[in-house]
Amino acid sequence: MPDRVAIVTGAARGIGAATAQRLAQDGLRVAVLDLEESAAESTADAIGGLAIGADVSDAAAVDAAVARVTKELGAPTVLVNNAGITRDNLLFKMSEVDWDAVMGVHLKGAFLMTRAVQKHMVDAGWGRIVNLSSTSALGNRGQANYSTAKAGVQGFTKTLALELGRFGITANCVAPGFIVSDMTKATAERIGVEWDQYVRDRAAAIPVQRAGQVEDIANAVSFFVDERAGFVSGQVIYVAGGPKV
Ligand code: NAP
Repeated sequence: MPDRVAIVTGAARGIGAATAQRLAQDGLRVAVLDLEESAAESTADAIGGLAIGADVSDAAAVDAAVARVTKELGAPTVLVNNAGITRDNLLFKMSEVDWDAVMGVHLKGAFLMTRAVQKHMVDAGWGRIVNLSSTSALGNRGQANYSTAKAGVQGFTKTLALELGRFGITANCVAPGFIVSDMTKATAERIGVEWDQYVRDRAAAIPVQRAGQVEDIANAVSFFVDERAGFVSGQVIYVAGGPKV
């Protein structure tokens, strides 16, 4: 693997942290970006990466973060848009604030990060963009905001593939199913189901009969980032232990 610099957003914990770790193992230098720099430090320290604090939905913070990565690690040519939040509620109870927050992180965040990083990819004539979608893109009760954002991420990704392919840049989506993380723990808590029971119930409905682990997603991201995946672009891979939710 040639010398490459990656930025993984929302990488202090969960899928982002596992992905940052995996890309470091693959030989990349990795910027671990999260809301708070201090929260990103332990992940970054463990892989010899750079911890960066930025809100992906804030254009000025994003531009400053990308400038700092470029200065301290080198020009980024791999971007994993992983930062995410949920603000679940049934439609009739969903507030505008919760709608906007989810759109802000997933959609505006991916847009701002990609816009800031793509010029380095264009300059290099090579780039890899991997965006985190979800099986919720196909519709999920209580997630009108999140499922809309995750479907939007797929349209965004396909458009990036069309616009940026001529510069040696690929753009793909990984769409996880049920993965053990703080995000899904919060869901279990919200609906009042004990965590172990929640995992058992979810796993029983998954064809491979287990919950997904963060490493399952990191593996799929690693495939798209690989030098040898240059002819794979505009794709969505569901990593969900089966063909449907
Ligand atoms: P997680 O454990 O909640 O981690 C998300 C990370 O994103 C946190 O470190 C969070 O920081 C960070 N973040 C949130 N808002 C941010 C912002 N505005 N700017 C920068 N960082 C921000 O979630 P996860 O389960 O690992 O999920 C990672 C991605 O996979 C998300 O896009 C999620 O939608 C997607 N996904 C997850 C699952 C699943 O089952 N877990 C399934 C499908 C898709 P704070 O700690 O400061 O909030």
